[in-house]
Amino acid sequence: MPRDYIPAEVERRVRQAARHRCGYCLSPQRLVMARLEIEHIIPAAKGGDSSEPNLWLSCPLCNRFKADRTSARDPDTGTEVPLFNARTQRWSEHFRWSKDGIRVIGLTPSGRATVALLHLADDPDALIVRAHWVLAGWHPPTDDEQRLSPESGNGAGSPGV
Ligand SMILES: [Zn+2]
Repeated sequence: MPRDYIPAEVERRVRQAARHRCGYCLSPQRLVMARLEIEHIIPAAKGGDSSEPNLWLSCPLCNRFKADRTSARDPDTGTEVPLFNARTQRWSEHFRWSKDGIRVIGLTPSGRATVALLHLADDPDALIVRAHWVLAGWHPPTDDEQRLSPESGNGAGSPGV
């Protein structure tokens, strides 16, 4: 069995835990023609395995830009810093949307480095697509805070509200 083999059940759980959207640009599967990809947070080329804790969901665009990288330069400081970890870190603590909703703004060193490497604020095709999503009322997502753990099912009930 190849070491990058991912059982269908694991893939299903990862897609569900990621709420069927890219961990970086938050593009949801329902708006992306291409199938979102299971990505290795630590790439196989750098020794990452295909166990569930190392897997998350990425759109093909983000996955291609991320390639085998685990760090990138923070454009504000020039320091090489770890990329945003979509599985363990909260998106809204590292990023926000621009006022027009089409660009991701990095808030932290890792956030800024990830925006730069993955072109989350300047990929021309992505900007056009997001602009149309904004016009349609589909974007930006407003539920970034509601990260569900895989165990919490479909989130029925909101304790503490
Ligand atoms: Zn993406």
